[in-house]
Amino acid sequence: MARERPTIIHLKKVWKVYKMGEVEVPALRGLDLTIKDGEFVAIMGPSGSGKSTAMNMIGCLDIPTEGSIFLDGQDISKLSESDLAQIRGRRIGFIFQQFNLLQTLTALENVMLPMTFQGMPADERIERAEHLLDMVDLEDRMHHKPSELSGGQQQRVAIARSLANDPEVILADEPTGNLDSKTGQIVMDFLRKLNIEEDKTIIMVTHDKDVAHHAQRIEFLKDGVVIRTIKGKKNIPNPLSQGKKVKKMTRKTESPRKTRNRPDNISNNQANKVRSKK
Ligand code: ADP
Ligand code: MG
Repeated sequence: MARERPTIIHLKKVWKVYKMGEVEVPALRGLDLTIKDGEFVAIMGPSGSGKSTAMNMIGCLDIPTEGSIFLDGQDISKLSESDLAQIRGRRIGFIFQQFNLLQTLTALENVMLPMTFQGMPADERIERAEHLLDMVDLEDRMHHKPSELSGGQQQRVAIARSLANDPEVILADEPTGNLDSKTGQIVMDFLRKLNIEEDKTIIMVTHDKDVAHHAQRIEFLKDGVVIRTIKGKKNIPNPLSQGKKVKKMTRKTESPRKTRNRPDNISNNQANKVRSKK
Protein backbone atom coordinates (compact mmCIF):
# COMPACT_ATOMS: atom_id res chain seq x y z
CA MET A 1 0.00 0.00 0.00
CA ALA A 2 1.26 3.46 -0.82
CA ARG A 3 2.38 5.29 2.26
CA GLU A 4 1.39 8.85 2.93
CA ARG A 5 4.01 11.20 1.59
CA PRO A 6 5.11 14.27 3.53
CA THR A 7 4.20 17.73 2.27
CA ILE A 8 7.10 19.36 0.46
CA ILE A 9 5.48 22.62 -0.63
CA HIS A 10 2.71 24.50 1.08
CA LEU A 11 1.38 27.86 -0.07
CA LYS A 12 -0.82 29.42 2.55
CA LYS A 13 -3.04 32.33 1.54
CA VAL A 14 -0.41 33.72 -0.79
CA TRP A 15 -0.97 37.15 -2.28
CA LYS A 16 1.25 38.77 -4.87
CA VAL A 17 0.43 42.32 -5.85
CA TYR A 18 2.61 43.90 -8.52
CA LYS A 19 2.86 47.66 -8.40
CA MET A 20 3.01 49.35 -11.79
CA GLY A 21 3.37 53.00 -10.91
CA GLU A 22 0.00 53.94 -9.42
CA VAL A 23 -1.67 50.72 -10.52
CA GLU A 24 -1.72 47.58 -8.38
CA VAL A 25 -2.03 44.25 -10.17
CA PRO A 26 -3.06 41.40 -7.84
CA ALA A 27 -1.59 38.32 -9.57
CA LEU A 28 -2.25 35.94 -6.66
CA ARG A 29 -5.21 36.48 -4.34
CA GLY A 30 -4.85 34.17 -1.38
CA LEU A 31 -3.59 31.08 -3.20
CA ASP A 32 -3.64 27.86 -1.18
CA LEU A 33 -1.75 24.90 -2.58
CA THR A 34 -0.23 21.80 -1.02
CA ILE A 35 2.18 19.52 -2.83
CA LYS A 36 3.42 16.23 -1.47
CA ASP A 37 6.95 14.96 -1.84
CA GLY A 38 7.21 12.98 -5.06
CA GLU A 39 3.99 14.29 -6.60
CA PHE A 40 3.65 15.36 -10.22
CA VAL A 41 1.21 18.27 -10.37
CA ALA A 42 0.09 20.22 -13.44
CA ILE A 43 -1.12 23.80 -13.21
CA MET A 44 -3.52 25.04 -15.87
CA GLY A 45 -5.50 28.24 -16.30
CA PRO A 46 -6.05 31.13 -18.65
CA SER A 47 -3.30 33.56 -19.52
CA GLY A 48 -2.83 36.04 -16.67
CA SER A 49 -4.33 33.73 -14.03
CA GLY A 50 -1.12 33.78 -11.98
CA LYS A 51 0.52 30.49 -12.99
CA SER A 52 3.99 31.89 -13.61
CA THR A 53 3.76 34.11 -10.55
CA ALA A 54 2.96 31.05 -8.43
CA MET A 55 5.90 29.18 -9.97
CA ASN A 56 8.21 32.11 -9.20
CA MET A 57 7.13 32.02 -5.56
CA ILE A 58 7.63 28.25 -5.27
CA GLY A 59 10.97 28.57 -7.05
CA CYS A 60 12.30 31.20 -4.63
CA LEU A 61 12.60 33.72 -7.46
CA ASP A 62 10.31 36.18 -5.71
CA ILE A 63 8.54 36.58 -2.38
CA PRO A 64 4.84 37.05 -1.74
CA THR A 65 3.25 40.34 -0.75
CA GLU A 66 1.30 38.45 1.91
CA GLY A 67 0.96 34.86 3.09
CA SER A 68 3.48 32.07 3.66
CA ILE A 69 5.30 29.54 1.56
CA PHE A 70 6.79 26.48 3.22
CA LEU A 71 9.42 24.36 1.52
CA ASP A 72 9.98 21.18 3.48
CA GLY A 73 8.54 22.89 6.55
CA GLN A 74 10.73 25.99 6.30
CA ASP A 75 8.97 29.31 5.75
CA ILE A 76 10.75 30.79 2.74
CA SER A 77 8.41 33.73 2.26
CA LYS A 78 10.45 36.15 4.30
CA LEU A 79 13.99 35.11 3.47
CA SER A 80 16.61 37.48 2.13
CA GLU A 81 17.56 37.38 -1.54
CA SER A 82 20.87 35.64 -0.77
CA ASP A 83 19.15 32.94 1.31
CA LEU A 84 16.57 32.45 -1.43
CA ALA A 85 19.36 32.15 -4.01
CA GLN A 86 21.01 29.43 -1.94
CA ILE A 87 17.80 27.40 -1.67
CA ARG A 88 16.97 27.97 -5.32
CA GLY A 89 20.39 26.79 -6.47
CA ARG A 90 20.35 23.56 -4.53
CA ARG A 91 16.77 22.48 -4.08
CA ILE A 92 14.93 23.65 -7.18
CA GLY A 93 15.47 22.80 -10.84
CA PHE A 94 13.93 24.95 -13.55
CA ILE A 95 12.73 24.09 -17.04
CA PHE A 96 11.37 26.90 -19.22
CA GLN A 97 9.34 27.13 -22.40
CA GLN A 98 12.21 28.93 -24.18
CA PHE A 99 14.79 26.39 -22.87
CA ASN A 100 16.92 29.33 -21.58
CA LEU A 101 20.25 27.76 -22.47
CA LEU A 102 23.30 29.97 -22.81
CA GLN A 103 23.98 30.15 -26.53
CA THR A 104 27.74 30.56 -26.23
CA LEU A 105 28.15 27.41 -24.15
CA THR A 106 28.01 23.78 -25.27
CA ALA A 107 25.37 21.40 -23.93
CA LEU A 108 27.93 20.03 -21.48
CA GLU A 109 28.92 23.50 -20.26
CA ASN A 110 25.27 24.50 -19.85
CA VAL A 111 24.65 21.48 -17.63
CA MET A 112 27.84 22.14 -15.67
CA LEU A 113 27.01 25.77 -14.95
CA PRO A 114 24.66 25.34 -11.94
CA MET A 115 27.27 23.05 -10.34
CA THR A 116 29.91 25.74 -10.80
CA PHE A 117 27.74 28.09 -8.77
CA GLN A 118 27.57 25.47 -6.01
CA GLY A 119 31.35 25.16 -5.98
CA MET A 120 31.64 21.57 -7.18
CA PRO A 121 35.18 20.61 -8.34
CA ALA A 122 35.66 20.66 -12.13
CA ASP A 123 36.27 16.93 -12.63
CA GLU A 124 33.10 16.07 -10.70
CA ARG A 125 31.14 18.65 -12.67
CA ILE A 126 32.21 17.18 -15.99
CA GLU A 127 31.51 13.64 -14.88
CA ARG A 128 28.05 14.47 -13.57
CA ALA A 129 27.11 16.62 -16.58
CA GLU A 130 28.15 13.83 -18.96
CA HIS A 131 26.12 11.38 -16.96
CA LEU A 132 23.02 13.61 -16.97
CA LEU A 133 23.25 14.21 -20.71
CA ASP A 134 23.62 10.48 -21.21
CA MET A 135 20.42 9.99 -19.23
CA VAL A 136 18.48 12.18 -21.66
CA ASP A 137 20.10 10.36 -24.60
CA LEU A 138 22.32 13.23 -25.66
CA GLU A 139 25.71 11.65 -25.11
CA ASP A 140 26.57 12.26 -28.77
CA ARG A 141 25.54 15.94 -28.65
CA MET A 142 27.46 17.07 -25.56
CA HIS A 143 29.85 19.35 -27.35
CA HIS A 144 27.24 21.03 -29.53
CA LYS A 145 25.95 24.52 -28.87
CA PRO A 146 22.19 25.14 -28.57
CA SER A 147 22.01 26.55 -32.13
CA GLU A 148 23.20 23.16 -33.40
CA LEU A 149 20.46 21.28 -31.56
CA SER A 150 16.77 20.79 -32.29
CA GLY A 151 14.14 22.24 -29.93
CA GLY A 152 13.52 18.85 -28.37
CA GLN A 153 17.23 18.27 -27.87
CA GLN A 154 17.62 21.72 -26.30
CA GLN A 155 14.80 20.98 -23.87
CA ARG A 156 16.48 17.68 -22.96
CA VAL A 157 19.68 19.63 -22.22
CA ALA A 158 17.53 21.89 -20.02
CA ILE A 159 16.13 18.80 -18.24
CA ALA A 160 19.68 17.56 -17.64
CA ARG A 161 20.65 21.02 -16.38
CA SER A 162 17.65 21.12 -14.03
CA LEU A 163 19.06 18.00 -12.33
CA ALA A 164 22.59 19.36 -11.98
CA ASN A 165 22.45 19.94 -8.23
CA ASP A 166 20.10 17.04 -7.54
CA PRO A 167 17.12 19.20 -6.50
CA GLU A 168 14.05 17.72 -4.83
CA VAL A 169 11.67 19.89 -6.83
CA ILE A 170 11.54 20.49 -10.58
CA LEU A 171 9.51 23.43 -11.85
CA ALA A 172 8.59 23.37 -15.52
CA ASP A 173 6.76 26.38 -16.99
CA GLU A 174 5.25 25.31 -20.34
CA PRO A 175 8.05 22.81 -21.04
CA THR A 176 6.45 21.63 -24.28
CA GLY A 177 5.08 25.04 -25.34
CA ASN A 178 7.68 25.50 -28.08
CA LEU A 179 7.71 21.90 -29.30
CA ASP A 180 5.64 19.94 -31.77
CA SER A 181 3.48 17.27 -30.17
CA LYS A 182 5.75 14.32 -30.98
CA THR A 183 8.83 16.05 -29.57
CA GLY A 184 6.76 17.27 -26.63
CA GLN A 185 5.79 13.68 -25.93
CA ILE A 186 9.45 12.65 -25.69
CA VAL A 187 10.15 15.53 -23.29
CA MET A 188 7.13 14.49 -21.20
CA ASP A 189 8.40 10.90 -21.10
CA PHE A 190 11.65 12.16 -19.61
CA LEU A 191 9.82 14.31 -17.06
CA ARG A 192 7.70 11.36 -15.97
CA LYS A 193 10.81 9.25 -15.73
CA LEU A 194 12.30 11.81 -13.33
CA ASN A 195 9.13 11.70 -11.28
CA ILE A 196 8.72 7.93 -11.17
CA GLU A 197 12.28 6.66 -11.13
CA GLU A 198 14.13 9.53 -9.48
CA ASP A 199 11.31 10.45 -7.13
CA LYS A 200 11.46 14.13 -8.08
CA THR A 201 8.53 16.35 -7.17
CA ILE A 202 7.42 18.03 -10.40
CA ILE A 203 5.21 21.07 -10.83
CA MET A 204 4.43 21.88 -14.42
CA VAL A 205 2.44 24.68 -16.03
CA THR A 206 0.82 23.79 -19.33
CA HIS A 207 -1.94 24.90 -21.66
CA ASP A 208 -2.20 21.45 -23.19
CA LYS A 209 -4.73 19.06 -21.64
CA ASP A 210 -2.96 15.99 -23.03
CA VAL A 211 0.30 17.16 -21.48
CA ALA A 212 -1.43 17.92 -18.17
CA HIS A 213 -2.82 14.41 -17.98
CA HIS A 214 0.70 13.05 -17.47
CA ALA A 215 0.44 14.55 -13.99
CA GLN A 216 -1.25 12.88 -11.02
CA ARG A 217 -3.27 15.99 -10.29
CA ILE A 218 -4.30 19.08 -12.20
CA GLU A 219 -4.92 22.39 -10.44
CA PHE A 220 -6.86 25.04 -12.35
CA LEU A 221 -6.05 28.64 -11.53
CA LYS A 222 -8.18 31.66 -12.25
CA ASP A 223 -7.65 35.18 -10.96
CA GLY A 224 -4.89 34.03 -8.68
CA VAL A 225 -6.67 31.21 -6.85
CA VAL A 226 -7.34 27.51 -7.45
CA ILE A 227 -10.86 27.09 -8.79
CA ARG A 228 -10.80 23.36 -9.51
CA THR A 229 -8.70 20.27 -8.86
CA ILE A 230 -8.90 17.07 -10.87
CA LYS A 231 -7.00 13.81 -10.82
CA GLY A 232 -4.90 13.07 -13.90
CA LYS A 233 -5.00 9.82 -15.82
CA LYS A 234 -2.95 7.19 -14.10
CA ASN A 235 -0.68 4.46 -15.34
CA ILE A 236 0.14 5.80 -18.77
CA PRO A 237 2.93 3.43 -19.82
CA ASN A 238 6.27 5.21 -20.07
CA PRO A 239 8.52 3.91 -22.86
CA LEU A 240 11.54 5.22 -20.97
CA SER A 241 11.03 3.29 -17.76
CA GLN A 242 13.86 0.81 -17.20
CA GLY A 243 16.15 3.36 -18.86
CA LYS A 244 19.24 5.02 -17.48
CA LYS A 245 19.00 6.31 -13.96
CA VAL A 246 20.51 9.36 -12.40
CA LYS A 247 23.55 8.70 -10.34
CA LYS A 248 23.04 9.63 -6.73
CA MET A 249 24.92 12.73 -5.77
CA THR A 250 26.92 12.80 -2.59
CA ARG A 251 26.33 15.92 -0.63
CA LYS A 252 27.94 17.02 2.60
CA THR A 253 24.77 18.25 4.23
CA GLU A 254 22.32 15.81 2.80
CA SER A 255 19.05 15.58 4.69
CA PRO A 256 18.03 12.06 5.75
CA ARG A 257 14.82 12.30 3.75
CA LYS A 258 16.74 12.49 0.52
CA THR A 259 18.46 9.16 0.88
CA ARG A 260 15.39 7.00 0.48
CA ASN A 261 14.56 5.22 -2.74
CA ARG A 262 17.64 6.28 -4.57
CA PRO A 263 19.70 4.04 -6.83
CA ASP A 264 23.16 3.87 -5.31
CA ASN A 265 25.02 3.47 -8.48
CA ILE A 266 24.29 3.84 -12.15
CA SER A 267 26.40 0.77 -12.94
CA ASN A 268 23.63 -1.51 -11.69
CA ASN A 269 21.43 -0.10 -14.36
CA GLN A 270 23.84 -0.02 -17.24
CA ALA A 271 22.82 -3.51 -18.24
CA ASN A 272 19.27 -2.58 -19.06
CA LYS A 273 19.89 0.58 -20.98
CA VAL A 274 16.91 1.33 -23.11
CA ARG A 275 17.21 3.78 -25.91
CA SER A 276 14.42 6.24 -26.45
CA LYS A 277 13.28 7.17 -29.93
CA LYS A 278 15.13 10.20 -31.16
P1 ADP B 1 0.10 33.41 -16.23
O1 ADP B 1 1.45 32.80 -16.09
O2 ADP B 1 -1.01 32.58 -15.68
O3 ADP B 1 -0.18 33.84 -17.63
P2 ADP B 1 1.24 35.59 -14.67
O4 ADP B 1 1.56 35.02 -13.35
O5 ADP B 1 2.36 35.78 -15.63
O6 ADP B 1 0.06 34.75 -15.33
O7 ADP B 1 0.54 37.00 -14.47
C1 ADP B 1 -0.55 37.22 -13.60
C2 ADP B 1 -0.93 38.69 -13.62
O8 ADP B 1 0.15 39.44 -13.07
C3 ADP B 1 -1.14 39.25 -15.02
O9 ADP B 1 -2.16 40.21 -14.94
C4 ADP B 1 0.19 39.88 -15.35
O10 ADP B 1 0.02 40.94 -16.27
C5 ADP B 1 0.65 40.37 -14.00
N1 ADP B 1 2.11 40.38 -13.88
C6 ADP B 1 2.93 39.31 -13.95
N2 ADP B 1 4.22 39.65 -13.74
C7 ADP B 1 4.22 40.99 -13.53
C8 ADP B 1 5.24 41.97 -13.27
N3 ADP B 1 6.52 41.60 -13.14
N4 ADP B 1 4.85 43.25 -13.11
C9 ADP B 1 3.56 43.60 -13.21
N5 ADP B 1 2.55 42.75 -13.45
C10 ADP B 1 2.86 41.47 -13.62
MG1 MG C 1 2.91 32.30 -17.55
